[in-house]
Parts: sequence; structure tokens; C-alpha cells
Amino acid sequence: MQYDSSLENKLNKIDNLEVRYNVPLKKYTSFRIGGPADIFLAPRTIPAFRKALSLLNNYQLPLFILGKGSNIIVGDKGFRGVVIYTGKLNRVEIKGKEIIAEAGITLSSLANKAMEAGLTGLEFASGIPGTLGGALYMNAGAYGGEMKDIITEAILLDYSGKEMKLKKKELGLSYRYSILQEKPLIAVKVKLKLKPGNREEIKAYMKEINQKRKEKQPLEWPSAGSAFKRPEGYYAGPLIEEAGMKGVRVGDAQVSEKHAGFIINLGNATARDVRQLMRMVQERVYEKSRVRLEPEPKFVGEF
Ligand SMILES: Cc1cc2nc3c(=O)[nH]c(=O)nc-3n(C[C@H](O)[C@H](O)[C@H](O)COP(=O)(O)OP(=O)(O)OC[C@H]3O[C@@H](n4cnc5c(N)ncnc54)[C@H](O)[C@@H]3O)c2cc1C
Repeated sequence: MQYDSSLENKLNKIDNLEVRYNVPLKKYTSFRIGGPADIFLAPRTIPAFRKALSLLNNYQLPLFILGKGSNIIVGDKGFRGVVIYTGKLNRVEIKGKEIIAEAGITLSSLANKAMEAGLTGLEFASGIPGTLGGALYMNAGAYGGEMKDIITEAILLDYSGKEMKLKKKELGLSYRYSILQEKPLIAVKVKLKLKPGNREEIKAYMKEINQKRKEKQPLEWPSAGSAFKRPEGYYAGPLIEEAGMKGVRVGDAQVSEKHAGFIINLGNATARDVRQLMRMVQERVYEKSRVRLEPEPKFVGEF
């Protein structure tokens, strides 16, 4: 796609902003699937992020915010517009029981920092392979914990680069949901409140739950985690198994033999393979159990 050349010049003038073109997104997704982003920006500071947004606001291009890409299925033709990658925003401040972190830090490194500081409450997130911003967007959760339990407020930018602060209540956190899914808002900093704990106990608990993950989940294959949200009153995995879909393949996309709630990439799966397999699973489960499964990952770009 052709862009106004003045945009290229102006982007290059912003300090602390990495600018690239035609970047294959498969390198940035846990599924290892996805075509190129026309423009790929990686701000290293929040002011650079703000400047880029304020500039882009004049061009009205489609925008996508990318964390660790662990909850998205990017189309094989990629994304026509601008992808802004948050992974270079990863500064962390710990003040007593409070952690103030930039949104691109991974949950695993944040959980380790909390452990080192003797703070408990983030262990549940240590094996979730996303960023703090992505975890806020999804209200990520596991092993009885969710982001809602520990987030107190967030600093966000709107798509024109304007900064605002939202308190926990205003973030609308509920099961795999936050207000960010409805509004064009980008998390750049998140404040968490944890509790004092024992470092060795925190470490041991993280080890235990991550061992359980390894035993139950097909972590040896690329995926986007649970392919479907948990339907009320059920678990997706057993419903999929009962519908006879465990191990079923479309191309190189397969319903995992280890955990039917996961769809894995056996090597060369395309986004279309995954989407087709997900639709098959939804149909078969509905025929068998009359339960409608809703995809958990977001579909992004052109398929
Ligand atoms: C093996 C595996 C296991 C998983 N286990 C779990 C689990 O136990 N529990 C769970 O809840 N999830 C799980 N997930 C899913 C995923 O890791 C989480 O949803 C995670 O929070 C996504 O974060 P991310 O940075 O990868 O987001 P991305 O996939 O990059 O993005 C997801 C969505 O969030 C938006 N987004 C990302 N960053 C920001 C930001 N800073 N501001 C605004 N919007 C943003 C994106 O635009 C996109 O719409 C798992 C995934 C995998 C691959």
C-alpha cells in the first residue's frame, strides 16, 4: 500500500520511535501466523507514543495495538494500516506494595520482579505469555486470579495521543473483558496493588502452577492459548472432546490432542485454516450440546 511520503518523513523525525515497513506479523504472534503490517511502529517512550499518535491522527489510517500477540489471529494478508508494538515500553517502579509498570512488560518478568520484591498476588499471571497492557485489555486470569484483583488504575492514551487516567471501576473489568475492547484507548501504564509475602513461597507457587500448565497445555506448539471463552456452566475443552473434535485438522491447524480447548499450529497453518477449524468446532459443539462457543482471541487484519 502506498502512503503519503510526508508521513514517512515525519515519523522518522520522532525520537525514540522505531519505524519499519512491511513487517511480517507471524514473528510477533504466539501462533506464528500472520501476514505483513504496512507500517510497524515501536515507541521506546510514552512521549514518543503520544507524538506518533498525534501525527497519525491527521492521516486517518487503521491502527492496531500489538502486545505479545498471544491472543490474536492475524490474517494471512496482514494488516493494512499501522501496527504499534508496545514491547519496548517496559519500565517498572515498585513503591511499597504498589507496582507502576509500562504496558509492554511481559507478565512473566513482572511476576518475577514482584517475587523479588516480596510481593504476592501476581503469581497467577506468571505463565500467561502476554504483556501487562494485553492482560488489562483481556482482564486475563488463571488459577483463581485475574487482573481485576490487582489493578488499581491505568494511564491510557486515546487515538489522538491525549492522556487520561482511569480508576479500576472505570476500566469495567469482568470475565475476559475491559472497556478497552469497546473504546479506542491504549494502556501505557498500569498501577497494581499487591500484598507483602514470602519470597520463597511466591517462587514455589509460581513453579507449581507453571508445572501444571506444562502438563495440561500443549506449550510445545504455537497457539493463541484457549481458542474459546469458557461458556457459562461448562468448560470448552470437554465440550469439544464430546463433539468428537479432538485431534481434528484443517491443513496444519489442529485441535490439540493434549487439551481440546487449544488449537495449535503444526508448522504451516494459515489464519484461514485456523478460522475454518474454529467454525467447524463451533458447529459440531452446537449440534452435540446446544452450546455456542465464542472465540477468545481477536481476529485481526485481512484473511
Ligand atoms: C500458551 C498460552 C496460554 C495462555 N494462557 C492464558 C491464561 O491462562 N489466561 C488468560 O487470560 N489468557 C491466556 N492466554 C492468552 C493471552 O496470553 C492473554 O490474553 C494476554 O493477556 C494477551 O496479551 P498480549 O500482550 O499477548 O496481547 P495481544 O495478543 O498482543 O493483543 C490482544 C488484544 O489486546 C489489545 N492490546 C494489547 N496491548 C494493549 C494495550 N497496551 N492497550 C490497549 N490494547 C492492547 C490488542 O489490540 C488486542 O486486541 C494464553 C495464551 C497462550 C498462547
